[in-house]
Amino acid sequence: MKKIIALVLAAMLVCTSAVMLASCGDGEKKELHMATNAFFEPYEYYEGDKIVGIDAEIAEAICDKLGYELVIDDMDFDSIVTAVSSGKADFGMAGMTVTDERKESVDFTDSYTTATQVIIVPEKDAKVKSVNDLKKASIGVQLGTTGDIYVSDKYEKSGAKIERFNKGADAVLALTQGKVDAVVIDNEPAKAFVDQNEGIEILDDPFADEDYAICVAKDSELTDQINGALKELKDDGTVKKIIDKYIND
Ligand code: GLN
Repeated sequence: MKKIIALVLAAMLVCTSAVMLASCGDGEKKELHMATNAFFEPYEYYEGDKIVGIDAEIAEAICDKLGYELVIDDMDFDSIVTAVSSGKADFGMAGMTVTDERKESVDFTDSYTTATQVIIVPEKDAKVKSVNDLKKASIGVQLGTTGDIYVSDKYEKSGAKIERFNKGADAVLALTQGKVDAVVIDNEPAKAFVDQNEGIEILDDPFADEDYAICVAKDSELTDQINGALKELKDDGTVKKIIDKYIND
């Protein structure tokens, strides 16, 4: 009898320590580093010195589910895929569109939302009145984004001049100063820029529908783990609630 009790106690001890190890490490939660570019309202942006937004909140909810502490590393958008593929960051979340080219360097989780690319122009005397006019325009984009890739592929040969900026806000500043004719950027950040700047508007024709997803190092176990957490957060309405909190039109 004593032997059995001793065995049961020993088994219980092993189990508790295993659970504790998995969830807490050395008593501290393990960190997951998210690479982003925090100048992309409403997905990620600074409120004081804190990074908030749809991506920041969904990432926090995923980390909560998986038992990790979230640490957000802010960097140029163009550096995110490399940070993730080299292991400097655990995942990238930055209103990032799933593209075949990026898939050569990283894996993507399931998509958590969709977006479009839009064209921002001056309200008065705009040279660009439709997508067609981009052919000969000077176009501001954010370096390395799908906006950059689309206009470079489609219009650079026909005589468009592409001006590439590290931040979307710098492209918009160039537009308000008359240095470029149009800015091509994702629809929600475009709305935020138009709200914050006088005299610019979004053209009616959007182009390119996109899926946003989280990028993870190739063949990492994290992809399945994040997908599992993301599914639960979609199913219980958390993802929608977070998106609706930031996008309400
Ligand atoms: N969705 C665009 C892309 O993935 C822009 C993202 C961004 O600027 N943060 O390229």
